Amino acid sequence: MKPTINPDTCIASANCSRTAPRVFANLEENDGFVSIIDENPPESEWPAVRAAEEQCPSGTIHIEKDAGAAAGG
Ligand code: SF4
Repeated sequence: MKPTINPDTCIASANCSRTAPRVFANLEENDGFVSIIDENPPESEWPAVRAAEEQCPSGTIHIEKDAGAAAGG
């Protein structure tokens, strides 16, 4: 799983960093807009990432499924 964001649509609501704080951050130096802090989150974080995607009010978060590039592990 690879979360991606569209910086053009984020409204800095910070839902995502509350829902998945190990994956998303809303940093002051970024005016509260979303940053991804873990681009390849471990499986234990996937439910939180999916919840963040569902709860984002602006549809900013998308999840790319692995495109067959993984090699074990
Ligand atoms: S929940 Fe969506 S709109 Fe809110 S900060 Fe996160 S990415 Fe931006």
